[in-house]
Amino acid sequence: MIIVKTSSALNRALLPHKPNPIGFVPTMGALHNGHITLIEQAAVNSDFVVCSIFVNPTQFNNPADFAKYPITLEKDILMLEKAGADMLFLPLVSELYPAGIENLERYDLGYLETVMEGSFRPGHFQGVCQVMSRLIRAVGPDKLFMGQKDYQQCMVVKRLLEIMKSPVEFITCPTVREADGLAMSSRNMRLNADERNKATAIYRALTYIKTNLSSKAIGPLKSEAHSILTAAGLKPDYIEIADGDDLHLLKDAKDSAKSVALIAAFMNEVRLIDNMIL
Ligand code: AMP
Repeated sequence: MIIVKTSSALNRALLPHKPNPIGFVPTMGALHNGHITLIEQAAVNSDFVVCSIFVNPTQFNNPADFAKYPITLEKDILMLEKAGADMLFLPLVSELYPAGIENLERYDLGYLETVMEGSFRPGHFQGVCQVMSRLIRAVGPDKLFMGQKDYQQCMVVKRLLEIMKSPVEFITCPTVREADGLAMSSRNMRLNADERNKATAIYRALTYIKTNLSSKAIGPLKSEAHSILTAAGLKPDYIEIADGDDLHLLKDAKDSAKSVALIAAFMNEVRLIDNMIL
């Protein structure tokens, strides 16, 4: 695997491969099997796989979350090589943001930025768009692989591709879970054994919603899911049931042919998100 740190080195190294489909998997590192399935999907569906590891400062609305974001670079490199990544792009902040991280242009994300992650993490999706537009311009991929685990983020990046008038093909990969249902996440590394155990309540709450969607109204479903979370010591930011195509919040499950349940909750200091297509 080739490791490059600058856009010019990236360009030079990619040039011989450009005629063939390039698959791109952006990450913030601290890799787990969820990331690795994205690399494997990219390897199956493209000729050359580029992964990036960059902990993007502009998407953290909480400075403590940014400061404590796990970094496991040596292990990540070994995992990427084993999974079949061809190139790792490891830029510095000054490489992606040469003019600094203040006073950046705004992207019009409309309604998407007003609900759930958008409302609970002000500025987060603007930061996601900043980094994704820069990474896409630097790598110039044909295909972009991202995880359903970050459902709303997938919708934001699809919107960004429209705004950029980019021909890049967007491929959503299913959420990879631990054996007990907890969605894999780099932030799980920050949980102790007890917290890690209790965090499975998020999966149980989502499963409860899915199992009971046809027999219960949305209000009682959400309040029961809330009880499942709080009984485990989680503090929910939101529990929503939304239309899977535009994320409009549903008052009645029958109002949408494809609905999705989405949860964000704190286990002490660590904020976890997950979702389930219903
Ligand atoms: P992150 O490093 O958390 O920014 O995630 C990088 C990419 O991996 C994003 O597209 C995520 O949606 C995806 N991802 C993270 N966790 C999982 C998971 N458990 N299953 C599938 N994809 C994931």
